[in-house]
Amino acid sequence: MMQIQTTENKDLNTLPAKQNLLALSFEEVTLFLSRLGWKRYRSEQVLSWIYKQFAADFESMTNLSKSDRRLLSEKAVLSHLKVVTHQKSSDGTEKFLFELADGKQIETVLIRSEKKRRTLCISSQAGCTLDCNFCLTAQEGLKRNLRVDEIINQFLSVQATLPDEESITNVVLMGMGEPLANLNAVTAACERMISPMGLNLASRRVTVSTAGLIPQIKTLIAGPVSVNLSISLNATTDEIRSRIMPKVNRLYPLKELMAACRALPLPPRRSITFEYVMLSGINDSLEDAARLVQLVKGIQCKINLIPFNAYPGALYQPTPDGQILRFQDWLHQHKIRTTIRKSKGRDILAACGQLTSEFEN
Ligand code: SF4
Repeated sequence: MMQIQTTENKDLNTLPAKQNLLALSFEEVTLFLSRLGWKRYRSEQVLSWIYKQFAADFESMTNLSKSDRRLLSEKAVLSHLKVVTHQKSSDGTEKFLFELADGKQIETVLIRSEKKRRTLCISSQAGCTLDCNFCLTAQEGLKRNLRVDEIINQFLSVQATLPDEESITNVVLMGMGEPLANLNAVTAACERMISPMGLNLASRRVTVSTAGLIPQIKTLIAGPVSVNLSISLNATTDEIRSRIMPKVNRLYPLKELMAACRALPLPPRRSITFEYVMLSGINDSLEDAARLVQLVKGIQCKINLIPFNAYPGALYQPTPDGQILRFQDWLHQHKIRTTIRKSKGRDILAACGQLTSEFEN
């Protein structure tokens, strides 16, 4: 008999006592339920409860009969993240520290911006595989990759705390970790985010950020999941990039990275966002701006300037606002689309580069 493997590479024929439905793809959920004798439309009902109505357990799936709910509870579970702390910033940003089943901790940030935009910044690893030295997460080192259910659960857990009239509209994989170092789980999670059977977000509202892992960028762009790509550039010379992002720049120096970007078969009307953290006296001169113009020449892109968010013990200082504006002005004069990221959640250390499982023992 053909053996069927799950996304976690487990054999569905030798399942654990209870199967975590969030660890399964949609097809695997359907297969699992068919083994219980359920028709296909019933799996659509269950998936709708999980991904559209954010049901926390089987008991709340009220269009299933009581006996079916009992059977599901005997055979399956929906995994959860434990909330360790939940902080709210004066600007409406919220930071969640979650504990995973093995005790590792991760952070997720909800950013409220103009109108009804609600952006969730999701973690893809506990700690990080890279060592960017302007980033607090890097100090933890890599603890482990997150599984697909742990990535998706960050969305489900935060959405469950919001009132009915408030929905997460955008997702950025820019929390703790290098998403493309956990490519399979990240791709599977993105698929569930944009699928009409899943969270049904528009694909242009989901962004995967990377420090510049070239092979994985190529795999992501060539794959079936079409999401936005954002690359942390942060320097215009190898000397500076190797100083502030040593590991990734040693693997993939600037010239190679930009050549790879130039050759990417981007879908029509898609562009790459280059993130650029502004570090005072390090990468923020007008000479840097001029080099940046040359670096991105021929690439359909936008530059996002990020004011550096200091934290206790940080090696760098933020660039003064006036210099950020001059830098932006230079790029505008050279017809490069450039935005300045509004910093959110600084008072609760939820801003970009400030994430760490600081409560961990
Ligand atoms: S900036 Fe991103 S990739 Fe670099 S160490 Fe921090 S979390 Fe990892």
